[in-house]
Amino acid sequence: MSNKDVLVFEIEQAKGKPENIKHSDGYCPFCDTDNLVNIIDQRKDMIWLDNKFRTLKDTYQTVLIESSDHNGDIATYNQAKNREVFEYIYECWNKMLKCGKYTSVLMYKNVGPLSGGSLRHPHFQIIGLEKVTDTNT
Ligand SMILES: [Zn+2]
Repeated sequence: MSNKDVLVFEIEQAKGKPENIKHSDGYCPFCDTDNLVNIIDQRKDMIWLDNKFRTLKDTYQTVLIESSDHNGDIATYNQAKNREVFEYIYECWNKMLKCGKYTSVLMYKNVGPLSGGSLRHPHFQIIGLEKVTDTNT
């Protein structure tokens, strides 16, 4: 395995990240939409933007806020909202795949206290890998 095949987590970059999974009264940057920066695209209450915390080396990290409802979840949205979320997330993911800048593009969601995620507010991650290739594709 060469360096080309691994994702490097840069722990320094994760310091100072807001967190409200363990402390539910913590500040939520995704509710504070007036102060969001580097927004890539927006549809209704869904917002796709740059991830401020670049924790993975040689990647372009973005997040997609699914809903303005802090406690919303794909398990509790109605059917129309779920379709809206998945349509939009696939569209954004596809844009990054097709732009040709990345060797692979990851799309995932980390939810729950043991997931490593730091924010309760429902969101997906879309990450363009600049060097590492997903060997399954
Ligand atoms: Zn929130």
